[in-house]
Amino acid sequence: MRKCNAIMGDMIETIIHKSDRMRLGIMGGTFDPIHYGHLLAAEEARVAISLDRVIFVPSGSPPHKKYPGMASAEDRYGMTLLATNGNPSFDVTRLETDRKGSSYTVETLQRMKELYPGADLYMITGEDAALDLPLWRDPYKIVSLAKIVAVSRPGGYHDKIGELPDEIRESVLVLRTALLDISATDIRERLASGRSANYLLPDAVLAYIKKRGLYVKARNTGQRYKNNE
Ligand code: ATP
Ligand code: MG
Repeated sequence: MRKCNAIMGDMIETIIHKSDRMRLGIMGGTFDPIHYGHLLAAEEARVAISLDRVIFVPSGSPPHKKYPGMASAEDRYGMTLLATNGNPSFDVTRLETDRKGSSYTVETLQRMKELYPGADLYMITGEDAALDLPLWRDPYKIVSLAKIVAVSRPGGYHDKIGELPDEIRESVLVLRTALLDISATDIRERLASGRSANYLLPDAVLAYIKKRGLYVKARNTGQRYKNNE
């Protein structure tokens, strides 16, 4: 029997797990680029739910996200590897990176169930992403495959979690974590305009971005990273 403290809604509850089944965290994202908001979310969930491992799943060709200057699936996978390799409980999978066409979370979770038949799955998301769940493909199937661990994210999302449909809300564990106001969009914008992104993401990821020349808007006009060389 294992015990863990998680915060469900606004109430602190002690969840007693009667089984010793493996507990697997699934941290999906575009990771364009991966930053400390993602890493903190995964670590806080790992500790709160006593997860045995957290598997990061960089998306391949995300159905809902397309914009100019998006890093390739291969670069996003590489950055995720660099960011996570210091944590022995973190792994990265190529499940979505290698998939041709769109990747849907419901398919990824089904595949995870096949790969780890004895495991309970915990899908880690920010509160913003948890609120979008009803818009994802097959949300009811998703919550039948995994519990959703919604971690704090600045932006006023927390108060809206209660508005999720009951069948989805029942599968959402709201985990209060330190608020990190970091987004990949902001990091891309900073880098494109030559501003510093230091301390928002691991140094190794920043070094990779610079080496590969990612997120520099005017690549052909000689603009390079200015203030944060
Ligand atoms: P973008 O700005 O491109 O949307 P992002 O920073 O939101 O990037 P994603 O790859 O979209 O990163 O997010 C992957 C997951 O990580 C989502 O569930 C998202 O809610 C969560 N997440 C991202 N940033 C944070 C953060 N600062 N705090 C908590 N959760 C976060
Ligand atoms: Mg996002």
